[in-house]
Amino acid sequence: MNSKTFPLSREQTDRISRDYPTPFHLYDEAAIRDNARRLTQAFSTLPGFREYFAVKATPNPFLLRILADEGFGADCSSLAELRLCETVGLTGERIMFTSNETPDNEFREARRLGAIINLDDITLIDALIAATGSLPDTLCFRYNPGAAKAGNTIIGRPEEAKYGLTRDQLFEAYARARDLGVKTFGLHTMVVSNELDEQYHIETARMLFELAVELKDRLGIRLAFINTGGGIGIPYRPEEKPLDYPTLARGARAAYDQVIVPAGLDPLSYHMECGRAITGPYGWLVTRAFRHKETYRSYIGVDASMADLMRPGMYGAYHHLTVLGKEKAPATHTYDVVGSLCENSDKFAIQRPLPEIEMGDLLVIHDTGAHGHAMGYNYNGKTRSAELLLRPDDSIVQIRRAETLDDLFATLDLPAAQSFK
Ligand SMILES: *Cc1c(COP(=O)(O)O)cnc(C)c1O
Repeated sequence: MNSKTFPLSREQTDRISRDYPTPFHLYDEAAIRDNARRLTQAFSTLPGFREYFAVKATPNPFLLRILADEGFGADCSSLAELRLCETVGLTGERIMFTSNETPDNEFREARRLGAIINLDDITLIDALIAATGSLPDTLCFRYNPGAAKAGNTIIGRPEEAKYGLTRDQLFEAYARARDLGVKTFGLHTMVVSNELDEQYHIETARMLFELAVELKDRLGIRLAFINTGGGIGIPYRPEEKPLDYPTLARGARAAYDQVIVPAGLDPLSYHMECGRAITGPYGWLVTRAFRHKETYRSYIGVDASMADLMRPGMYGAYHHLTVLGKEKAPATHTYDVVGSLCENSDKFAIQRPLPEIEMGDLLVIHDTGAHGHAMGYNYNGKTRSAELLLRPDDSIVQIRRAETLDDLFATLDLPAAQSFK
C-alpha cells in the first residue's frame, strides 16, 4: 500500500491557479530532495555509487540543478538533453551519454562536453571515430542479454528490443576498443522499465558483475564501472508496494561480495540512471473539470489533455486521480475523465469510481513527475501546460511557462504578421 497525497489544499491550489491557470504540473522540491538522499544513503555501501538522472523523464533545468546539487549526474540521449545539462553545469563524467542510432553531431557534442559515451552497437566504434576523429579514453558498451533475461511490458522482451550489443559482440567490441587505445571501460544494460521487484534489479546487477569477471578472465580488461540502467518502478496504483531502496542495495552489495570481491575486482563503481523513480511520485498534473456529459457513460471533461500527459493514452497506463477537497468522500460515481483531443485515447481515467465531480472542481492526477510533461505533444494544436515548483519554503516558482499559439506557429511562415495569444 502507498498513500496518494498532494502537498496542497484545495484553497491553496485555487489561489495558485489565479496566477498560473490550470492545467499545470507541480513538482515538490523537498520530496524530490528527500528521495534523492534516501537513494544515495541506501546505495552508499556500493563503491563509487552514482545515479545519473535520466533527463528525458523531466527535462527541466530547475529540476536538473536540484538533482545535481544532490550529487546526481545526468543520463542524456539527445543533443537537447546534452545542452540542458551544460546550462546547469553538468559536464564531463557527470554526464552519461546513452543514445542509440546516434547522429554524428550528437557524438561531437558529447565529446565536447567530456561526457562518458555509452555505445549501443559495435559499428558505433567506427562511427564515433569518423564523427570525432578519435576515441575517448573512457568508453562504455550497452549489453542486450537477449533471451538470457526476461523483460516486462513497457520495455518489451530484450531480444525484441533495438538496444545494445549481443554477448559475442560485447567481447569483440571491448577487445577492439582496447586495441584502439581506450583505457577505461564501463558496462551498461537497461533491460526493464517500471519494475517494482527488488530481486529483478539485483539479478541485473549480478549479471553485470558476472560479465565483469568474464571480461577480466577472457580479455584481461578490468572494468571501472557498471551501470544497471534505469527502470526502478513506482507504485502508480495505491495498492502497489513501493520498491525498497535498502533491500535492493543490500542485495546488490551481497552479489558484489559474492562475485566481484573474490575475483579481485573490488573496487568496481556502481552506477545507475533512473528517471521515473527519482521524480515520478513527486509531480502531479492539476486540472479543472469544466464539462459534464452523459451518454452511454458519464464523462468529465477537464482542461488538460494528452498534450500534458500521454501515458494513459499511449500505454493504457493507470494514474491515480483525486478530486481536491473530496479525498475522503465516498466514490459514488463512475466516470471517464477526458481531455478535448479528437482522439478517443485522450482519457485520464476510464470507468473510474470517484466522488461526485462538480464543474470547477480541481482534479489531481498523481505520479506525473516523470515521463509526464516531457512526453506531451502538440497534436490537434493543443499547447502544453506550465510546470511549477513547490519550494521547501512553500513558495511557488514557475519553471516552465505554458505554451502559447505563438510558440505553436513559430515554425510557420504565416501570411500576415499576426500575433496569436
Ligand atoms: C528511459 C531510460 C532511462 C530511465 O528509465 P526510467 O524508467 O525512467 O528509470 C534510463 N536509461 C536509458 C538508456 C533510458 O532510455
